[in-house]
Parts: sequence; C-alpha cells; structure tokens
Amino acid sequence: MEKIGRYSFEQYLEVIKSFHGSESPGLVLGGIMVDYALGQMEPGVLFDAICETSSCLPDAIQLLTPCTIGNGWLKVIDLGRFALSLYDKYRGEGVRVFVDGGKLNGWEEIWNWFYKLKTKREQDKDLLLAQIREAGCAILSAGPVRIDPRYLGKTSKGAIANCPGCGEPYPQKDGALCLGCSGQSPYEQMTELTG
Ligand SMILES: [Zn+2]
Repeated sequence: MEKIGRYSFEQYLEVIKSFHGSESPGLVLGGIMVDYALGQMEPGVLFDAICETSSCLPDAIQLLTPCTIGNGWLKVIDLGRFALSLYDKYRGEGVRVFVDGGKLNGWEEIWNWFYKLKTKREQDKDLLLAQIREAGCAILSAGPVRIDPRYLGKTSKGAIANCPGCGEPYPQKDGALCLGCSGQSPYEQMTELTG
C-alpha cells in the first residue's frame, strides 16, 4: 500500500495520530478499506456511507471522504462487523467492503489482532502495521449493495417543542417527554450553573 486516499502511507499515519490519538491498526486497515471502496465508485457520484461498526472505521470514513456523522452523510449502524458501504445517495446503489476472515490465513499478526488472540502488550505493533500495509486489499472482499430505501434521503426531525420535564427543545416525535427525561439519559447527576 503506497497511498491511502490523497495521502502517502506515512502521511496517513501522521494524520490519524493527530485525529485519533494513536496509530490505531483499525484505523490503518480502515483507511485501506475506504480507499478500496472509493476506487469502486463511479466518478462524480454523490455518495453517502454506512459503517457497520462504531470502532475506528467511522474515523477513516470521516478522514477520507466528505461523509461525516455531523453532516448526516455517514450513518453508523453498529452490526459489529468491520465493514462499510459507499452508495449513491439517491439511488442507493453502491459497494460494500469488509474484512474477509477467509483471507486472513497466513497474516499471523493481523489474525491474532483481529480475533483478539493476543493482549495489546503481547502485540508487535510495528509488525502488525507492516502486515496491514503489505496485505492491503488482499484481506478484503467487496461486492455491490443496494440500500434499503428507509435509509435513503434526509431524516427529518419534524416539529421541535420544549420538553415539559427539562425545558430543553426536543423533537416532538420522541413523545410527551424528551428521550433524556424518558429514562435514556447517561447522566447520574446533571446540574446547571447559575449566575
Ligand atoms: Zn426533557
């Protein structure tokens, strides 16, 4: 692998170090996957992305494509698979790229890392990164997909109202109370600064 997106391999390592905090093997592999998927897309197609895991891979998509979680062009649907799809945002046709377990044979360090057979301490990170670089697309598979129409187009929030519980604006379609006041809040305690 010489290039990942518009970056050289070494540049990409620098970019992910500053964005993600470390040269995460998942993000290196993810970059190769996104690069591969981009290569399968017809030029000029406006595409959205679906990522099937919430770890590492979403960051590769955000670094290498215009699709981010914030702009709504990237959806993370956590199916637990290290896979992503890029697809025509109107027609829903695109390509899915995944790590192919059947192709990991012979890539011992990748195998041990991917199947979590070694602790992080036991891992030889340099060897792992070298193998990921050398393997490139050889451990991936890809195929055409068509996205379920309910995932296409803009998802509208609908009307916004103030929640009778917390007083904060929320989408009314969520119910009589906002989701935070309906028991889905992650906060054990939440207070407000005054003054
Ligand atoms: Zn509320």
